Order: sequence, then structure tokens, then C-alpha cells
Amino acid sequence: MTLLTFRFAPSPNGELHLGHAYSALLNQKLASATGGRLLLRIEDIDTTRCTPEFEAGIFRDLEWLGLGWEQPVRRQSEHFSDYRAVLDRLISEELVYPAFMSRGEIRAFITASEKRGRNWPRDPDGVPLYPAVDKALPMKERQRRMAESAPFAWRLDVDAAMARVGTDLSWLEFSDERLSAKRAVKARPQDWGDVIVARREIPTSYHLAVVVDDALQGISHVVRGQDLYSATGVQRLLQEILGLPQPGYFHHRLVLGPDGRKLSKSFADTGLAALREAGASPEDVRRLVGI
Ligand code: GLU
Repeated sequence: MTLLTFRFAPSPNGELHLGHAYSALLNQKLASATGGRLLLRIEDIDTTRCTPEFEAGIFRDLEWLGLGWEQPVRRQSEHFSDYRAVLDRLISEELVYPAFMSRGEIRAFITASEKRGRNWPRDPDGVPLYPAVDKALPMKERQRRMAESAPFAWRLDVDAAMARVGTDLSWLEFSDERLSAKRAVKARPQDWGDVIVARREIPTSYHLAVVVDDALQGISHVVRGQDLYSATGVQRLLQEILGLPQPGYFHHRLVLGPDGRKLSKSFADTGLAALREAGASPEDVRRLVGI
């Protein structure tokens, strides 16, 4: 039997909190219960928000928690050429297009359309979908703008990608922390519209890097927070058009703050470093998150 492979994939754009601790410890628990592997991936493609200080904090917190992971750690910012190669394929297959609208232009376009009485569609996170007007730009005009260094992002042409796949997509979702029962969930990538798959300066985005890395690292089980549940649809579509294997998924419960809301990186009182400094032990953290 092939070894099960799990990963914990934090982004060093803030401090780890109890929610991260739960995710990391659950991955560790499943890896050790199944005799599998646990890998660590630093998701630092956002070079403006990720810092070496936050990354150092992640290592400090995880070591303190007693998390053990295999070497080497994959740091996404060291692998831009892997993503570039995949992006080039998507460009040549015309499954992505350069989208030039700025945030302000998007907002104005949507406001104008809503004034005419149209309810603009939103993604599952409540963000308005990208108005896919650039899809109709003639190739010459695209090239002219790119040659003039106009800002743009590569967006997935979700309709073209779905048509290429030609069949309904689903993913396998485990329904409990022991990974016993699983069910097929219908993937609905179109609910997210034409998502960004790369930026002009950075040849990837969260979605693209995550599917490329899950495949390159041989991840068999993606265990992560419920907040990424519906985004899995986009990732399944990318896996399919890129011919990548599909892992199984378990989207675990989120650890909520005292106010019943999702924890954020700015909650100092549930940050692992703050808890440690206040005298908490790793066992206290395990008890707090229920592992
Ligand atoms: N880097 C993402 C985060 O910190 C997690 C991505 C994933 O697990 O797929 O929220």
C-alpha cells in the first residue's frame, strides 16, 4: 500500500493562532494514526505580505507544539519556475486570459450594472465575480497592452475550462476526523467566476500553487479548514485541466474565538506566541483545540 501523505501549509503573512494549531495537530494525528507522512509547506507567494519574521514565528510555534515534519520544507517562493511552466501551458491552451481591469474599474462596472437593475453575482465568500469583459479583447489589443506594461492578472476562463473538461466534476470529501466515511461533492468552480491564476509579476496564485504543490509533493489527503471547502471546486477544475492527480479532502471545523467568530491573524489573545508567553503549554493548546 502506498503511504498516505498529509501536509500543513501555512502562509507567513501573520502569526499562527489556535485555528492553525488545530489544523497542524490534526494533520499530525492522522499521519501518525495511518503510519503516513507529514509535510510542511510555506505558502509565501505573496511577497508583499509574507515576511521572514512571520516565517520564523511559524517554525518557532510548530516546534514548540511538537509538530514533526519531513524535510525538505517546500517554500513556494523558491519554486516560481514550476508555476511558470504550468502557467505557460494554460496560456498556450487559451484557458487563461490577461485581465486588465483595476479594482476601481471593476467596482465602477459593477455599480453601473447594478444601477441598471441587475444583481451582480457574488462568489461563495461574497466577493463580486470578475466582469469577464477582457475575454472579448482582440489578441492584438491584448498584446499591445501587455507590451505597454499595463497592469494585469491572468484569469482562468472558467467556461472554457469547464467545456474542455466536458463532464461534471466532483471531489471526495471525508466526513469525520478519522477519515472513515467519504462522499462525492459536486465541484462548482463556476461559482467563483474567472479566478486569478497568476499575476503579472508573480507567475501563480493561491489556487494554482496549491494544486501544483499538492501534486508535486504527492499529497494523498488535504486536511484543512472548512473555510476552503467551496474553493476546492476551483482546485478540482485546475487539477483536471492540468492532468494532475486528485487528493481526498477533509475540511475540518474551524476553531472559533470567544465571540463565536472565525479567528483572524490579528487576534492577539489566541495567537500561539501570545499564549506561550502567557505561560500556556503545548498540552494546554491541545486541550483548547480538542486534540
Ligand atoms: N495557505 C493557506 C492558509 O494559510 C492554506 C491552504 C491550504 O491548506 O490549501 O490559509
